[in-house]
Amino acid sequence: MRCPTCKSEDLRVLETRDLDEAIRRRRECAVCGRRFTTFERIDVLRLYVLKRDGRREPYDLVVAATGYHLRVPFVPSDVVPVIDEIPQLIAGVLPERYKNFYFTSFGQPRYGAGPLITAGAKALVAMIRAQPQMEHPIGAVLRRLGEGPPLTALADPFQMMRRSARAVKMMPRIVAREAAIMRANSSVTATMQLFRPW
Ligand SMILES: [Zn+2]
Repeated sequence: MRCPTCKSEDLRVLETRDLDEAIRRRRECAVCGRRFTTFERIDVLRLYVLKRDGRREPYDLVVAATGYHLRVPFVPSDVVPVIDEIPQLIAGVLPERYKNFYFTSFGQPRYGAGPLITAGAKALVAMIRAQPQMEHPIGAVLRRLGEGPPLTALADPFQMMRRSARAVKMMPRIVAREAAIMRANSSVTATMQLFRPW
């Protein structure tokens, strides 16, 4: 391993933490002092995307940005059903049955989506980071909390931005309470609905 700044191989480990799914190490370059973080993960699950040109590429998640079109012709219809032009995605980005599969840019805001995609990106990152800590697909957990696919392809930009900000805040709590949520204890579910991110 080399320092990302000066390419020296003279590196010190400052701190090591076991995160269950990975080992996190804080490292420092002995030459230039640059500090950076590395993660070690067991390479158990290798999934591949078979590209149209025949290449096979490993992936651990797919983020499909489709501009502002509503359909997903490149995905089999049983993965993401489309009803009345609306992809059946929880919170607009998560298929209910699949982990590590996210969509973005489906919302059809009333006046321009640029800033919305930026705002939504933080929520998407929070969800991508949360998923490896969760047993079930996030979409399934949110479904259990009462979240469903959108009813319209139109989105209120301000509401989307508020929901995105709340989603970032709520994701750790949803991760922490996943087991209780999925046991479908009605009192827990009712309590969690007070905190619904979307
Ligand atoms: Zn260096």
